[in-house]
Amino acid sequence: MISERMQSAINRQINAELWSAYLYLSMAMDAEAKSLPGIANWFLAQWKEEQDHARIFQNYMNARGAKVLLLPVDGVPQEWDSPLEMFRDTLSHEQEVTQMIDRLVRIALEEKDFATLSRLQWFVDEQVEEEDTAETLLTDFERAGRDFTALKDLDNRLAARTYHPAAPLG
Ligand code: MG
Repeated sequence: MISERMQSAINRQINAELWSAYLYLSMAMDAEAKSLPGIANWFLAQWKEEQDHARIFQNYMNARGAKVLLLPVDGVPQEWDSPLEMFRDTLSHEQEVTQMIDRLVRIALEEKDFATLSRLQWFVDEQVEEEDTAETLLTDFERAGRDFTALKDLDNRLAARTYHPAAPLG
């Protein structure tokens, strides 16, 4: 049986993953409005991935007979000054999520909940990837600056991203 403390921590994480999804959807909408279809495509894939993260936790809770609580999702920013600002926010948000996952790991260790610890390992690895990707793209946008051709090239590159369901759902 999964402890009450662990359950409520996971329910808060489900909410945080859904908020992440909402944040990236908002970035996609802003990029679409500004005729940056590649960036919009990239954030739409990100939006789906965050929903996958919530789903993985929901499946895990259900498998262990715990109750999933869908808490209210807070509002998100609606507009960014530039794609550079979007990727700045993306990186700092993912760094925060990493800290949240680390807190869950600490709770699982304290509760001696080894099943949850095992499930969390995928998220620990995933966060390394999320931060690395966001950091690389942030650097690319910093280098592009206000050079229109460089920005267009980056937008075209991000148009190529395709969504794949997260491995634990496959
Ligand atoms: Mg996530």
